[in-house]
Amino acid sequence: MSGPPPASWAVDPDQAGARLVQDGLWRLRIPVGWEQFDHVNAYAIEHSGGILLVDCGTAGDPSCAMALERALADADLRLEDVTDLIVTHVHSDHVGLAAELRRRLPITIWAHPYDDHTYSVLEDPQGTYERRVELARRAGAPEGRIEAFATVREELEGISGIAKPNRPLLDGVEIDSALGPWRVIETPGHSPSHVCLVQPDHELAIVGDLLCAAYIIWMEYGWTPDPAGEQRNSFARIAAAGPPALVLPGHGRPLGEVDALVASHQAEFARRLGLVRDALIEGPATAYEVADRAFGAGSAEDVLAFEHLGETVCFLRLLTREHAVAQDQDDGGRNRFRLTADPAPAQ
Ligand SMILES: [Zn+2]
Ligand SMILES: [Zn+2]
Repeated sequence: MSGPPPASWAVDPDQAGARLVQDGLWRLRIPVGWEQFDHVNAYAIEHSGGILLVDCGTAGDPSCAMALERALADADLRLEDVTDLIVTHVHSDHVGLAAELRRRLPITIWAHPYDDHTYSVLEDPQGTYERRVELARRAGAPEGRIEAFATVREELEGISGIAKPNRPLLDGVEIDSALGPWRVIETPGHSPSHVCLVQPDHELAIVGDLLCAAYIIWMEYGWTPDPAGEQRNSFARIAAAGPPALVLPGHGRPLGEVDALVASHQAEFARRLGLVRDALIEGPATAYEVADRAFGAGSAEDVLAFEHLGETVCFLRLLTREHAVAQDQDDGGRNRFRLTADPAPAQ
């Protein structure tokens, strides 16, 4: 998650639980505070020295760590069994408790090193806030909505501290477990730090927020040249990695028929990219206006409005790089986009 914070970070630890995926591998269902989604999945994997924990849930309230412990206990595990925390990406719902766990336990943290998109907020909240205000203005957001788009509360409150990795999760890195080694595939787009973990012997993949039963809209803009291009490439990368027989997502239940799942994500990505392009048939527009035309503006506090502006900025960047769209700047410093070719459909 990246965007508005939940109304309360407190969760009900009784909602936490564990399900055995197969011997030596549990899905831990950890409640989170948002109205729009009520849990994140962590995974506990046995290895010779204890437990690898993949992702850990948000911080923000003492009940969050209690929920993680409750989920582990449901698998007959203890927090003290965890030797390594592996982070699929540096968003609060996946990495929030990492710094707290490091304070409490002698753990090794594995994560992708491109974590500035989140940790810059903790290092320099005011500077990051001002940068986000500038991005929202340039995207054409009305003054009354800039605060909602620029807030840094979600990261400041939901993350227990900067948890730089001891071990980088880069392409080809392998992590041993009782099920065999898990191989890292870098899959940026949703966030620059996003990775998947593939276990070829059991045809499993832990996919963070790349794949889910519902398409995940969010793409992180402002940190890499072409987040939408990266996301499109990441769908192709996970498809080329096997594909696995079962994917273990960051939200929702494990999913089979992975070929069809990836294809449906690719189709939805293409559909949304097309909506953004077609929104410019009406005429030149700011990213905010394009998001409104393509997806609807929503309310100021709406997570979806936040996500739609983010994805629109990313899609417009991709279309600009592919020369389907050109970018100008108006007198107010706002970027305005227009189609480069005659948009009339062929007869
Ligand atoms: Zn995420
Ligand atoms: Zn997530």
